[in-house]
Amino acid sequence: MAVKAVKFGGSSLASAEQFKKVAAIIKADPERRYVVASAPGKRDAQDVKVTDMLYACFQAARKKQDIEPIFAKIEQRYNQIISELGLDFSLKEEFEKIKFAISHHVGEDYTASRGEYLNSMVLAEYLGYDFIDAENGIFFKENGTFDADHTNDVLAEILSEHERAVIPGFYGSMPNGTIKTFSRGGSDITGSIVARAADAEVYENWTDVSGMLMADPRIVKNPKVIKVITYSELRELSYMGATVLHDEAIFPVREARIPINIRNTNAPEEEGTMIVPFADKPNEDIITGVAGKVGFSIINIEKSMMNSEVGFGKKILKVIENHDICFEHLPSGIDTMSVVVDTAEIDGIREDVVNEMFRKTKADFINVEDGLALIAVVGRSMVQQVGTAGRVFTAMGKAGVNIKMIDQGSSELSIIIGINEADYAKTLNAIYSEFVKD
Ligand code: ASP
Repeated sequence: MAVKAVKFGGSSLASAEQFKKVAAIIKADPERRYVVASAPGKRDAQDVKVTDMLYACFQAARKKQDIEPIFAKIEQRYNQIISELGLDFSLKEEFEKIKFAISHHVGEDYTASRGEYLNSMVLAEYLGYDFIDAENGIFFKENGTFDADHTNDVLAEILSEHERAVIPGFYGSMPNGTIKTFSRGGSDITGSIVARAADAEVYENWTDVSGMLMADPRIVKNPKVIKVITYSELRELSYMGATVLHDEAIFPVREARIPINIRNTNAPEEEGTMIVPFADKPNEDIITGVAGKVGFSIINIEKSMMNSEVGFGKKILKVIENHDICFEHLPSGIDTMSVVVDTAEIDGIREDVVNEMFRKTKADFINVEDGLALIAVVGRSMVQQVGTAGRVFTAMGKAGVNIKMIDQGSSELSIIIGINEADYAKTLNAIYSEFVKD
């Protein structure tokens, strides 16, 4: 039988009511055989995620404080879910073991991981599925990076022994057997790993929104849901701060060419967003999305005859590297070169950076401008469409926005534009409404 790997996020598993929706979704399709679960998330805006409570427990234990008051709240979250689901099941022994371990200073990652561990046990019990502990099938290397090949071999073997199972997200084990977590939101990565190991036809990622939006809804009113986006387009957009899916979650499935479907647990009838290796149809709006971020600085370097000086760029990049700075873009002209960086990366060291650049390059002029916003206009269909850049810049001109920098990658997948932060919202709106007519 074909397999779908499904992952449910924290808000989808925050209460008994949400568990019931999740079970209905899983039972509606017999191919939904492998389920990855997050820890209980927030039930409302004021609520606290179980993972955050666990981190607080770890901190309390470290300061030699009593963890009981916080841990009691965690127990209560699970007990309420169990009793409201009417399950004849208890986590009492698990709670005791975990409490003992935390008070005896077991690692922070172990502590944080128990949210998904316990929630997956409850979900397995409720669904009548097997429980597979992620520590037996997801592995990290000695240096703390994810061990993709070893994981895939072992996990594929384990899954083949279970017709249907729940696997906790967020963690795996180190070569010495201790627990290690991915970064926050890492259950998305587990879902992707499970989809690859199960050779799934699709990885459904169930959350509390109906897919990825074409623009940030806090800035653009009612943006449309993206129906289809390629992995590469998603990379361009996520890099600019679209956060529906963990950045690293696409890698395992991308390798196996498995599509990801972002779905809404609270509106399962909606199709959500399909993230695919390649899209066969062009995008009717031409652009797939427009995203952006404020808080960048631009280091401008000028030197006459720069274009004929061999190794100039290397000297600049060496200074950037010496200061451990990641740069975002590197636009250049005949006698000018600019380095766009996150302002936070140069705060406190900008004078040192500029002085070293002067020394190494003998530049005529160097200055640093703050307050830059970057906008990424992303779309696979721009390649076939003449005039897209023209439409973007005309829309910005009409809105009275001054463009400070333009960068278009050779893939023609995105156009990156640098503007003043003050023009950020205006620009996003101008570009969105130029392409999306509802
Ligand atoms: N529970 C973890 C977190 O809050 C992991 C996850 O939900 O994906 O970050």
